[in-house]
Amino acid sequence: MAGVYIHIPFCKSFCSYCDFYSTTDNSLQEILVQTILREASLRASYLEGEIVDTVYFGGGTPSLLGVPAVAEIIRTVREKFSFADDPEITLEVNPDDVFEGFFRELRQAGVNRISLGVQSWDNKRLRYLGRRHDAAQSAVALEMVFREGFDNVSADLIYGIPGMTTADLKEDLEKTFAFPVTHLSAYHLTVEEGTKFGRMKKEGRLKETDEETSASMFALLGNICREKGFIHYEISNFAKEGYISRHNSSYWKQVPYIGLGPSAHSFDRRSRQWNVSDVRKYIKAVAAGEIPCEREELDRLTVFNEYVMTSLRTMWGIDLLHVEEFYDKELHDYLVNLSGKYIRYGLMKREKNTLVLTDQGRMISDNIIAELLADL
Ligand code: SF4
Repeated sequence: MAGVYIHIPFCKSFCSYCDFYSTTDNSLQEILVQTILREASLRASYLEGEIVDTVYFGGGTPSLLGVPAVAEIIRTVREKFSFADDPEITLEVNPDDVFEGFFRELRQAGVNRISLGVQSWDNKRLRYLGRRHDAAQSAVALEMVFREGFDNVSADLIYGIPGMTTADLKEDLEKTFAFPVTHLSAYHLTVEEGTKFGRMKKEGRLKETDEETSASMFALLGNICREKGFIHYEISNFAKEGYISRHNSSYWKQVPYIGLGPSAHSFDRRSRQWNVSDVRKYIKAVAAGEIPCEREELDRLTVFNEYVMTSLRTMWGIDLLHVEEFYDKELHDYLVNLSGKYIRYGLMKREKNTLVLTDQGRMISDNIIAELLADL
C-alpha cells in the first residue's frame, strides 16, 4: 500500500507557533493547482507497483482551495496512480473556512475524512496562538460536518500552551467530546525557531510549560481519551475502533508515499526527497518539466533508525521479527539487549516479538528513542 500527500501552501495569516511552509499570497492558487496536476503526471511512475490506499490534503490550509480544485486533484491522482477500492481521502479544514454546503460538496468530490483544526475551545488561547477562528466557529463546523454525514472526523487540539492548566485541558477535551468525533490529534506545543513564539522565547517573553505540568497533562489526556473509548495508538493520536488514521499510520509503518506540491516530502523505502519550499520556484520548475527537489539516499542504518523512532511512538511498537528479516540479526540483538533496562524500569514491555512503550515510557519517549538509535 502507498500514500499520496498534497501540500497546499496557502494561509490567510501565520499562526504564532507554526513552522510549516506556507505563504499568504493566495493569488497563486489557480496556477498552483494546475502545477500539482502536472507534477502528478510527471511523477506517475514514482509509486509503480504500489496500490494507493490514502490521500491526504495538508498545508497550509487546504480548505482555502475551492472544492472544484480539490475534486480535480483527486480525479487526477486517481488517474495517475493505481488505487485501492476504498481509499481514505482526508482534507484538513480550518473552522473559519466552512460555509453551508461545504462538507456536502467535499463528500461529492470524494473526500471521506475531515481533520478539523479546533486547537482550543478558549478564545483567549486561540488569539494567543494567532488562530483566525473562534470557538463558536469550531462548534458550527463540527455541527455541519456531522449533519452532512461524515463519520470519520478528527479534531486537532494543542495543549501545553503557556499559562494553560490541566483543568483547561480537561475542559477542551470535554467540549471536543461533546461532538461525536472519532479521532483526536492532541499535540503538546513546541516552540520552533523562526516562528513568532520562537522570537518571543529568545526575548524572554515566553515561558514554556514546565515538565511536571506537561506530564500531568499527558496523563490526563490518555485517561480521558481511554474513558471515552478511544485507542491511544500513537503518542499524539487517539481513535475510536475502526477510525485509526490510515494515512498517518502508513508514515509510521514506512509505507512509500509521494508528496506533491511545494515542500512536500516523498519516500520510496530507499530514498527520501523533498520539493523546494518556495511556491514560485516550484511553479516555474514544474512548468519547465522539472521536479525542484533535493534527495537523500537512505542507508540501511538510517532507515532502521527511522523505523525505531516512528514505530516506538505507536501502540504497535517495534516488530522484532521485522527487524531480523528486513535488517539483520545484529540489529535485532542490539534492540533486545538495550531494551532490557527499560523493561526492568517498567518503561517498556515485550509482548511476544514486539517492544512497546508503557504509559510511563511514553512520557519520556524522546529520551528512550534517542538512546535506542543505532550507531553500529
Ligand atoms: S497552523 Fe495551519 S493555518 Fe496556521 S500558519 Fe500553520 S499551516 Fe497556516
